[in-house]
Amino acid sequence: MGSALPLWGSALAMTIIVGGRYLLTSGAFAAITHAVRPGLYAGMERQIRREIGWSLASAAIYGIPAGIVAWGWQADGWTQIYSDIHAYSLWYLPLSVLLYLIAHDTWFYWTHRAMHAPRLFRIMHAVHHESRPPTAWAAMSFHPWEAITGAIVIPALVFLIPIHVAALGLVLTIMTIMGIGNHMGWEMFPRAFVHGIFGRALITATHHQKHHDAYRGNYGLYFRFWDRLCGTDLGLGRFDAADGQRRAVDRGARK
Ligand SMILES: [Zn+2]
Ligand SMILES: [Zn+2]
Repeated sequence: MGSALPLWGSALAMTIIVGGRYLLTSGAFAAITHAVRPGLYAGMERQIRREIGWSLASAAIYGIPAGIVAWGWQADGWTQIYSDIHAYSLWYLPLSVLLYLIAHDTWFYWTHRAMHAPRLFRIMHAVHHESRPPTAWAAMSFHPWEAITGAIVIPALVFLIPIHVAALGLVLTIMTIMGIGNHMGWEMFPRAFVHGIFGRALITATHHQKHHDAYRGNYGLYFRFWDRLCGTDLGLGRFDAADGQRRAVDRGARK
């Protein structure tokens, strides 16, 4: 099977796709935020410009390994990505999505927690926490060193865990939506979901907001499993939407 694009073309195309996906999805969520929480991002224009700048740099760091792997998949049959839906049992489709989310969450928890050690924090992770509080544009606002740790996960997993190309698309969609949703300053899931049985296991904005308020704990990405197991779960944060301003109630923990 020949590839339509040379290697560098694939890396460039993927960078444009990742950057374009970021601008479209973060832009859409920022517009929704403007509609449902008017004024939430008022006065944050400088921070948002910075978030967009770091995020577009991250797009290249994410796009290059993804483009190389996509090229190798097309040109040379690299990876365990399959396109014949019957290559594995149908029950494996949801299982493969879950395996990817668990693997990504595990990698994220431990690298994120390591980056909160003072030295690594300054070098790698301070950029992400400069957003106070983050906005819908902060989903990929990472220092390049941190972006590298995030960019290699899925390109590595596709060599290890078989996945149908559409299931991989679902994983990337979940990654994108949760990455933005967890930073946009309000909770998009219903209260009964967040404070019910699902919220005890899954991470949404209410949980991650508390990480940004407290500067520690709540290190997970999708699941509260590792935080709970390791005693780093701080519980859910709260959004005080009463005055239309972005003010987490328990901000005192930040100091
Ligand atoms: Zn952090
Ligand atoms: Zn964050």
